[in-house]
Amino acid sequence: MKATYSASGQTLIFEENLCKGCDLCAHVCPKKILTLDKSRVNAKGYNPMTCFDIDKCIACGMCGIMCPDSVITVLKEEKAV
Ligand code: SF4
Ligand code: SF4
Repeated sequence: MKATYSASGQTLIFEENLCKGCDLCAHVCPKKILTLDKSRVNAKGYNPMTCFDIDKCIACGMCGIMCPDSVITVLKEEKAV
């Protein structure tokens, strides 16, 4: 199950069923916009990571680099000049 969050210029894609709820990505995010969804569990039985304010994401990629299970894909769309 894929969850996609998108705003002008940045997109986050979470492979939710791969997440083990370790919270590493939330700790490393400079904008503090990632949180575990305590109301749901994924196929592994963990609360999946979600993004609650994609507008604040700067597409730095840190969450994707930090995730040990390659859950997060960060896409950045360059703005035309
Ligand atoms: S790309 Fe950067 S700012 Fe966006 S959610 Fe990941 S760590 Fe946070
Ligand atoms: S680092 Fe990866 S496995 Fe850990 S909570 Fe974040 S998305 Fe899930």
